[in-house]
Amino acid sequence: RFAVPGASRARSEALHAEALQHIVGGVNSPSRSFKAVGGGAPVVMKRGQGAYFWDVDDNQYIDYLCAYGPIIAGHAHPHITEAITRAAASGTLYGTPTELEIRLARMLKDAIPSLDKVRFVNSGTEAVMTTIRVARAYTGRSKIIKFAGCYHGHSDLVLVAAGSGPSTLGIPDSAGIPQSIASEVITVPFNDIDALKAALERWGDETAAVMVEPIVGNFGMVMPKPGFLEELCRLTRAAGAVVIYDEVITGFRFHYGTAQTFGAFPDQAAIEPDLTALGKIIGGGLPIGAYGGRKDIMEQVAPLGPAYQAGTMAGNPASIASGIACLEVLQQPGVYERMDRLAAGLADGLADLASRHGVPLTVNRIRGSFSTHFCEHPVTNYDEAQDTDGEAFARFFRLMLERGVCLAPSKYEAWFLTTAHTEEDIARTLEAAAEAFAEMGR
Ligand code: PMP
Repeated sequence: RFAVPGASRARSEALHAEALQHIVGGVNSPSRSFKAVGGGAPVVMKRGQGAYFWDVDDNQYIDYLCAYGPIIAGHAHPHITEAITRAAASGTLYGTPTELEIRLARMLKDAIPSLDKVRFVNSGTEAVMTTIRVARAYTGRSKIIKFAGCYHGHSDLVLVAAGSGPSTLGIPDSAGIPQSIASEVITVPFNDIDALKAALERWGDETAAVMVEPIVGNFGMVMPKPGFLEELCRLTRAAGAVVIYDEVITGFRFHYGTAQTFGAFPDQAAIEPDLTALGKIIGGGLPIGAYGGRKDIMEQVAPLGPAYQAGTMAGNPASIASGIACLEVLQQPGVYERMDRLAAGLADGLADLASRHGVPLTVNRIRGSFSTHFCEHPVTNYDEAQDTDGEAFARFFRLMLERGVCLAPSKYEAWFLTTAHTEEDIARTLEAAAEAFAEMGR
């Protein structure tokens, strides 16, 4: 039974009130709170199946949040569930190497040619954090350059925003990060090669790495301009620094591979980084991260080299088995084409409905995922993504939720399709959107 306007969320509200007593903010990740969409109790989910999930009040929703990316095969996919169950039945953790982890490493290497060697960790945050340590160990330098609005997890160095001018060092984005750490980070606008060039001219010989989401997933979905990544790689290497791609979102999102292997994309050459961070989809919904890249750089990592990184839970059999099973689902012919087609119908439909009701909307679609920005201008960088109507998004988010369509509660997050979504789901979503835009255009 899909949610309808006026449906009760009494149990969600009661559970959130209880959660607030025990869990900070009532949530285990701030993005789950409804703070960015006007507050109130987030919906508490209890079950998922395919493209749907159900809240504790038995309201059904079509899921486009997809757990911020990992759930690309839909909820409780039988092949993934079976793999996890089988792994768990044989013991969840040994603290020794396993055969399974070699298999997933080989699958990643087959799909991502720039990975000579990989290492599994437990989250995207860990993967990114470690690539920075390894790049610093390799270069003997300390600074990193990143791009405004790209999110790379919650480790100290990447929670740093731009200073007040293009030629200043960073300022901490979070309390608890010392200025001394923020001073190691330079933030420049995405898609602005001149700004990167200027930063490298000033700090190039102190820079260990340039970190980028090669296709942005964290201020909406944003493609690099033609030539941007090529120039980024060229300038970074000319400065003697390491190119790191954060492909935690983009890994296996658009095709069976990553943004760097995107030969199929018009305008985008395959531009390989030196190091890559992965997460989300490669764990099929269980905790995972991975990083890897050039052999000589990866050999900095212990036990071969002096850069230390370890993990009690790393490579745990359930996560690895889940990841293998998820990638097996994605290897089936036609799965990406189907997600692309459904996403195209949905994205075009949304743009069309918004314009019919006089609601300004920019839709950035990249294959099977897209972002909706309430504005008239294109969104190609963080400033443009910020300069959009957050209240309109919040209103749209709630109108859709009331009608059984669940989006991420933030104007910066993407809509994700899964292998489980159907034409019928798209039609139902567009019906909900027609009502939502009609309300908004009133
Ligand atoms: N990098 C990117 C590009 C991400 O989108 C995220 C999470 N949204 C992370 C890193 C951090 O991953 P995790 O939440 O698994 O630590």
